[in-house]
Amino acid sequence: MDEFDDRLAALQAQALQRVRREVVPQDGARLSVDGQSLLAFCSNDYLGLAQDPLLREAVHAAVDRYGVGAGASPMVSGHSAANAALERELAAAVGLPRALYFYAGYATNAGIVPALVGEGDALFSDALNHACLIDGARLSRASVHRYAHGALDRLEALLAASPARRKLVISDAVFSMDGDVADIAGLHALCERHDALLLLDDAHGFGVLGPQGRGALAAAGLTGPTASPRVLYMATLGKALGVAGAFVAGPPTLVEWLLQKTRSYTFATAAPALLAEAVRAGLRCALGPEGDRRRQHLGALIDRLRHGLTSEAGAPVQAAGWWLMPSHTPIQPLVIGDNATALAVMARLREQGLWVPAIRPPTVPEGTARLRIALSAAHQPEDVDQLLAALAAAARGLN
Ligand SMILES: *Cc1c(COP(=O)(O)O)cnc(C)c1O
Repeated sequence: MDEFDDRLAALQAQALQRVRREVVPQDGARLSVDGQSLLAFCSNDYLGLAQDPLLREAVHAAVDRYGVGAGASPMVSGHSAANAALERELAAAVGLPRALYFYAGYATNAGIVPALVGEGDALFSDALNHACLIDGARLSRASVHRYAHGALDRLEALLAASPARRKLVISDAVFSMDGDVADIAGLHALCERHDALLLLDDAHGFGVLGPQGRGALAAAGLTGPTASPRVLYMATLGKALGVAGAFVAGPPTLVEWLLQKTRSYTFATAAPALLAEAVRAGLRCALGPEGDRRRQHLGALIDRLRHGLTSEAGAPVQAAGWWLMPSHTPIQPLVIGDNATALAVMARLREQGLWVPAIRPPTVPEGTARLRIALSAAHQPEDVDQLLAALAAAARGLN
């Protein structure tokens, strides 16, 4: 115990100890946090669906029909009609032949990567990939070749030099702490040239990017009739879709293989039907005119924030040396630099009634601690203005 106490104390000394808050959702993007009402910029609920009455109603109806728990693994006790319908609807939504629905995104990637490659195979991984892709790579025992973020020339050299029979390139489609979008067409072209499979994690793009929010792969034109037999598309359902869970979609043979061989699917209890019904309601909204309206509103908020921070109004922030990463997604990281300053800025904002999370190493590289500002269609333009004013005040106060 002494050793763990010491290690915890060391985390605290480096300003790396993490704290959870008790939160209760309120109207719009507000949260009651430990009893205080805060305007939140910390959620990945990009379309504002997590509190939507349509999803609540879908859950109530599903509970009446299906009850609560699924009881066992889908391989043991089957899955519900809701889960089956959701798989068909997800596949149609992303323009790929077949989809497999999972209870969580982490478990999806941690499970499907080892199902696709093993000892003697080669994996190629962007340096900024999400932890669950990295963990899936470790579990697979394939040899892992990490390339610098977005460095497709490096990836090409690694692919060309690899003697492995089976090659898998894994990449976030939208990088979760930077907000930038992978060069999907470029990745796909390299996979074609070097006979590799491509697995894309679109946790932050599905519902937000592409026509009707169909995701980053659709935005890159690689779905529908032009779908590639070498691409697997994974996305999560707890972000823009407002619920929980994930799916992987792609060619029928690969998806059938994943159904047979993914340990995190086989050896885990199926997602409850009530969640599948909530996702179905979220999906109908996201794909329809209301989804278009919300994406348009969200786009205007992103422009407002970026303009506010990069124009003259953002002078105090610029003078502090803080800089906004080049992102056109709802993830708008403001890089502060060192851990303690990032935490101090977060605390200043909190005093003014705003919750913007400071993200520190090891989640992001050393020296790039940042505020990860996440915008949502649940925000109003005035909310963004309030954040801009509070950031300017914090920058003046700390310099
Ligand atoms: C959130 C996230 C996941 C994990 O999904 P969960 O459903 O929350 O487990 C996977 N990949 C990326 C890129 C994510 O941001």
